[in-house]
Amino acid sequence: MLTPGWRALAVALSAALSPLPALAAPQLDLVVRLEPTQGSLSAHALIALPAHEAIDLRIDARHRVTSMQLDGGALRASTEGGLQRIRIAAAKRPRQLELRWAIRADAPDAGATHRDTLTAFAPQIGEAGSFLAAGGAWYPLPFDSAGPLLHRYRLTVDLPAAQRALAPGDRQFDTVRDGRRTVRFDMAQDSEGADLMAGPWVEAERSVRSIDGRTLTLTTLFHPDIADQAEGYLDAAASHLARIEQTLGAYPYSRFSIASSPTPTGFGMAGLTYLGIEVLRLPFIRHTSLPHEILHNWWGNGVYLALAGGNWSEGLTTFMADYALREANQGEEGARAMRLDWLRGLSALSPAAQGSLASFGGRTHDASQSIGYHKAALVFLMLHDTLGASAFDRALRDFWQAHRHRRAGWPDLRAAFEHASGRDLGRHFALWVDGSGLAAPTIAGAVAGPDGLTVTLQQPAPHYPLEVPLHVRIAGQVRIERVALPGAQARVSLPPAAGCAELALDPDFRLARRLAPGEAPPVLREATLDDTLGLTVLPGDERLATAARTLTAQWLDRTPTIVDAAEAPGRASRMVIGNFADIDGWLARHRLPARDRDGEVVAWALRAPAGGTLALVAARDANALTKATRTLPHYGQQGWVTLAGGRAATRGQWPAATVWTKTCVR
Ligand SMILES: [Zn+2]
Repeated sequence: MLTPGWRALAVALSAALSPLPALAAPQLDLVVRLEPTQGSLSAHALIALPAHEAIDLRIDARHRVTSMQLDGGALRASTEGGLQRIRIAAAKRPRQLELRWAIRADAPDAGATHRDTLTAFAPQIGEAGSFLAAGGAWYPLPFDSAGPLLHRYRLTVDLPAAQRALAPGDRQFDTVRDGRRTVRFDMAQDSEGADLMAGPWVEAERSVRSIDGRTLTLTTLFHPDIADQAEGYLDAAASHLARIEQTLGAYPYSRFSIASSPTPTGFGMAGLTYLGIEVLRLPFIRHTSLPHEILHNWWGNGVYLALAGGNWSEGLTTFMADYALREANQGEEGARAMRLDWLRGLSALSPAAQGSLASFGGRTHDASQSIGYHKAALVFLMLHDTLGASAFDRALRDFWQAHRHRRAGWPDLRAAFEHASGRDLGRHFALWVDGSGLAAPTIAGAVAGPDGLTVTLQQPAPHYPLEVPLHVRIAGQVRIERVALPGAQARVSLPPAAGCAELALDPDFRLARRLAPGEAPPVLREATLDDTLGLTVLPGDERLATAARTLTAQWLDRTPTIVDAAEAPGRASRMVIGNFADIDGWLARHRLPARDRDGEVVAWALRAPAGGTLALVAARDANALTKATRTLPHYGQQGWVTLAGGRAATRGQWPAATVWTKTCVR
């Protein structure tokens, strides 16, 4: 994801703004002295103001401004909404604003969760790491009436020699003298600002060549205990960069740095990514989060987000990094599983939680991630399927060339896709981006006759412009028809078939649609989150029954209704707990599929023939179940999980079975 901050700041302040004329990119010269052990930073800024320009500067009200002068004369600030604001009217000649201030900050909280890092913008300064997000207004941020202004800067950081510093921009020098280090970053393009990071890092470097022939420097800045991971990350960064350049064009900066954070952050800024130490230790991160953050150098930190109208960069980055890599590494089966995961999450959202892409600002909770990342990725997938790969890629290359280092929004993307494809995509964008919710196409009927098979598709309002993949299976052979469904209903005629034809609507989950009940294979949380859940603890094992009560008290939000073991599973959700022999016997008695996994504890979801979702928990004994009590509730998104010693040993989802509709010639 992108660095947090200024967007929230812009929203909080937009009501209080007085209009100012548009400004050329301001130029800031920032010089800071960082003292990590003391939790302090002192700073000096020179801001050049061109003639005839007014400016509104804002800095966090917690920072102590010690001097402030305009061309040597005194100046005043007002405090509003947690910010000190300095308003300077336009004048006929160029002016220079000079500011000194001091920041005191707490050390980063080692106990912070990833969720905390999504919403906290307060500066952190400490020996283990320092992080000052531009969006937290640690330096005077320039604004106009529309919001934060893009700006250029030069940032010189003076800090103890044992620490290193990082900020977006070209690193001009990094020198050590008399126990202090001085580093300079120049941001010569219009940018969203100077995020400043520092830490007791070990640096490793590698030079690679960009697609346009420039030398690019790849750097890792890692805490000593993960410094041995540098080579692996540099290898991965080099290969991801080369792959993205092939599709989109040259990387826009001269250096790409991967820095470690003591808190579990996952941020991408221009030319760098800032990831938690514990995150970086995970072996899959170099193939998941890393390529995602690298791609943000094009989407979000290369083309910046328009101030209003929604954050398109997370969906495009998810589609072109996370999804594309899943497809490349795990093939269509892995890609299909990812699409199903997205649709499952989206289908579970209540109508009230279905926000539009145009109102998605950034990830703050799970529902916003489902929409801003997953629904948006599906919208790009549908465009890709409709326009074809070559028009799709051409549109994105053009969009990149036209908007790099500027702000752009969904309407600019629409224009690029329309230009590349020659198609009017007005309805596509109006419904998918400005509207909320999901499509819900169905097969309304199929009539077989001697002349062929006539299939009717329909969808409720609003009528999304869909191209529905209709799978037709005749005598074991599957053919895919793409059926245009632009309105409420569409008919398609298929050639005659002897015997029976079977139909399935979008069984590979390529449309952003609401899943039909029972369409997705069951997961444990379908039962555990159900208000009407019943509970059966199989009788006969008293110690296990006690352990089961502790487990359900932890796992379930409410007290379930107790259901007798003899009662057959019906349409309601039900959790059944027992030892292996008792569970196996219960499954056989109710003619349900037998348990096919082993472990100390096995939990799995099963759809009963009548439609209810069963969450089955089978344990070797009461001890094993007690050990699993803390772990099991974390695996609600799984179809099955096996545990050993209280830890998950294996887990997974059941494959989705295609629902076929059968039509036969009479
Ligand atoms: Zn992202």
